[in-house]
Parts: sequence; C-alpha cells; structure tokens
Amino acid sequence: MFELLKTDPTSKARLGRLTTTHGIIETPVFMPVGTQGSVKALDPRELREMGTEILLGNTYHLSLRPGMDIIRAAGGLHQFINWPHPILTDSGGYQVFSLARIRKIKAHGVEFRSHLDGSLLFLGPREAMAIQRELRSDIAMVFDDCPPHTSAPREMRAAVERTKRWAEECLEQPRAPGQLVFGIAQGGADAALREDCAKALVALGFDGYAIGGVSVGEPEPEIFKAIDVAEPFLPAHLPRYAMGLGTPAQLVELVARGMDMFDCVLPTRVARNGTAFTRKGAISVKAGAFKADFRPIEGGCECYACRHFSRAYLRHLLNVNEILGLRMVSVHNSRMYLKLMADIRAHIAAGTFGEFRRDFIANYVPSRKVLLARANAER
Ligand SMILES: [Zn+2]
Repeated sequence: MFELLKTDPTSKARLGRLTTTHGIIETPVFMPVGTQGSVKALDPRELREMGTEILLGNTYHLSLRPGMDIIRAAGGLHQFINWPHPILTDSGGYQVFSLARIRKIKAHGVEFRSHLDGSLLFLGPREAMAIQRELRSDIAMVFDDCPPHTSAPREMRAAVERTKRWAEECLEQPRAPGQLVFGIAQGGADAALREDCAKALVALGFDGYAIGGVSVGEPEPEIFKAIDVAEPFLPAHLPRYAMGLGTPAQLVELVARGMDMFDCVLPTRVARNGTAFTRKGAISVKAGAFKADFRPIEGGCECYACRHFSRAYLRHLLNVNEILGLRMVSVHNSRMYLKLMADIRAHIAAGTFGEFRRDFIANYVPSRKVLLARANAER
C-alpha cells in the first residue's frame, strides 16, 4: 500500500508511493481541498492538468448538503463530482468542533446543531465511518475530538482519551471496498499527550497516521513542536499526514520533519482576496504597484494564468470583481503548491533536498497577513 522509496540524508524528508483504489499517489503530496465537492473556483480538468493527484472532501459538509441520499444515488463521491482519481475524506470531527454549536459530547459522539439551519444532529465514529463508506473515498479519516488549542490541560487530556476510544470504534466499522483508514493523533502542544495519543493509535494499527489539531490559531513554533513530538512514534513504513497545513515555507519544513501528505485551504482562500503565492513570499495582486506591470504573477511559472495574463490585467479584474480574476489567482496558487511538491520530490530523489530547503527558506518572506488568514481559515 505504501512504499518508502528514499529518505533524505540531511533531514527526515521521505519520498514515497501510496497505492489507493483510484490510483497511485507520489509523496510528499499536496491535496487541494474540495470541502463541498469542489475546489473553489477550479474545475476537475484544470486540477488534473496542474498535477493534482488526490482531492480532499468533507463528511460534515457533504452529509448536510446535498445529503447522503443524493451522493448514494449518484454512486459515490467520485461519480457525483466526476473525479475518477483518489479522494481522501475528512471525518467531520474538525468541523463539528469548529463550526457547529455543540450541545453535548457523549460517549459515542457529539450532539450538535447544524451551522446552516440549527437542526439537531449527531456525529460520532459510527456515523462518520458510515458516511465515508457511502462516499466511497479512497482514504477515510477517523472521527476525532479536536479541542481549541487554548483548552485547559484537563480538557486536552479528556479530548485525547475520547480520540483514542473513538479511533478504536472507527476501526470496528465496515469500510468501502479497498478503503484505507487513517488515525489522527491529537494532544495540542503537550508533548506527553501527543506521544501517548500517537502510541495508542499505532497500537490499534491504521493504514496511515495524521497529526491533527495543528494550525488552529497557535503560533508557528507550536505547530512544528506538535509535529516534532508526535513524529518519532509514527511507523516509518506508513504515510504521515499533517492536517490543515500550511504556507509554502511551512510545507518545506514539514516535509523536512517527515510528513508526507498535506491539505490546506490557503491557496484558494487567499486567492479570492487577490493574494498570490510566489517562491519569495505572498504578494497582493491588487497592489497599486502592479497597475502597469505587464509581467506575469511569477516569472517562470507554467500555470495558465502566468502563461496568458499580466499582473496589470489580473489587478484590473480583481478591482472590478470579475470572476476571471479570482479564478486565475486560484489557478496560479494551486499550481504553485503542486509544483512545489513536485520539486520537493525531485530534490529528495536527487539527494539535493537539503540545499533546496536552505535556499527556499532563505528566499521566502513570510507574510503576517497570510498567517492570520490561516489562523482564521475553516475547512
Ligand atoms: Zn502562475
């Protein structure tokens, strides 16, 4: 299922290959986020052309709208959205704990009110796995307790205990044919809790492991700490997924810390505000400085937007709220992330990842605005 092809001599970076029912994924991999069954502003053909290997879909949102009766009748999520390639589905745990109004956390799940119409709903390990079975995703995630990073130590401990119990309950549920199931290690910034949760999940035996509850508003050093303390306990021969991360520079650093899979709403989310990612940092395409700048967003970028349009034209489109403007910045940003991962894989394969990492981080100027957008982002 997962083949570890090469390990970088200067870091924990890994080159791998993950085989799923709908295709093979080369890792490290970036998974564009299609929360509602669509990557915002992009269509499946362009996603595939820009190098997307696997998409992310979401249990919470899709089960609310259009509802499982529709997706079941369509024959599963791949058919419904016309994406015949791999799909990973999030269990809905994160959304229940971040979007919904929780009424009560019970032994076997959470009673909550829909963020759409306030209706009373229940989601737990059993329900989340049943939905993902019907979505027929290639990779299903366990239903976990995802508390705020500001939670008191006692609450964080209770969330980890629940996450462990629920993970076991998820494993007992039937799966779609060939469906892989990944466990999610929680524990906030507490090293002992992270270790405890990771060890307990590994003992249960999943097909891969995710590190969750990161990038939920905490400062960047805490993100890396959470990864660093959990990683040593995850089996080397299985894929590792850092959930909901991050900026381009963070992805390079997370690969160096032994992570294989990533998803993030940032590239399409900030695109809709006119922010474009380049290898030197984020730029605001709306800036007055680009009024008569007829260069592409990023010189050398092979995306459709950079091959066809200037900063001046895209700035104009964004300023007059033309859909093409935000579509083109979304195209550039998504392609930028996917090409970054392709370059990372090539450098690990060639044994030059150490130099690549050093140069990339030296050239990349982090943007406070982007980091704030990240903190507020919801999948
Ligand atoms: Zn571009």
